Amino acid sequence: MSIQDDWRSHPIGEEIVTATHQQITRAGHIPGQPGALDGGMTIEALPTWYGGTTFRSALEASWAATLDTLRIAWEYEPETITLPSGATYIPDFKLPEIGAWLEVKGTGVPRVEKPVEFGKSLSCDCGIYDCTCQWPGGELVIIGHPPRPYDPWADPQFADLENLNYRAMANTRRRHGGHPNWTSTRGRTAWLTRCADCNRGTWFDSAQCRACRGSLADCHGYQAGDPGIEFRRITGPKPAGEDDPEAA
Ligand SMILES: [Zn+2]
Ligand SMILES: [Zn+2]
Repeated sequence: MSIQDDWRSHPIGEEIVTATHQQITRAGHIPGQPGALDGGMTIEALPTWYGGTTFRSALEASWAATLDTLRIAWEYEPETITLPSGATYIPDFKLPEIGAWLEVKGTGVPRVEKPVEFGKSLSCDCGIYDCTCQWPGGELVIIGHPPRPYDPWADPQFADLENLNYRAMANTRRRHGGHPNWTSTRGRTAWLTRCADCNRGTWFDSAQCRACRGSLADCHGYQAGDPGIEFRRITGPKPAGEDDPEAA
């Protein structure tokens, strides 16, 4: 089973809860595709419930669900950090098994000064290939953006021009969560992969697994927005009186 099949084996879509509040914002348009939205992802900053935790926004809840799909362990806002500048900062997610942090930023005017300063304070000064720190390159700070929209025209399942099914395309587009999109505060590309040695999902920007320091030479690295990974969309607050579908 490939990494991709493994990640896709989760029934994406079943967790989607219908939004019961007004949608305030949508992500920006794709250049060259006027009117294209963000795959239906609502990113309003309203409390959103997922898996026993109340998040500040649907986007944060969706990142938590996506981390679960990727089998990356997370803790939500576990620590208050005092930055070198003296400013106080609460990162959204700590990813303790891979020595990383995830700061979720919606659209609008994303303020990334604090996570960037945090990332700078955590990274080591070793060369990429001779780092012997606990975490390769030091701890890593990832900025989690709204998902890259799903494009049915780029989906191989709709590649047969003889039998174009616009309704199926529209339905898939409506259900699809888009693709995870991120950047690293280190200013170089961070890929996402599943380590063949320890089987954990991990971001990496050097040749070693952040969890087990195994070689990632044979692992496929996904870039931000890669269509091989689906973003798991969670929308809306917990419906009153309903049980946690994740708790079963
Ligand atoms: Zn180092
Ligand atoms: Zn590993």
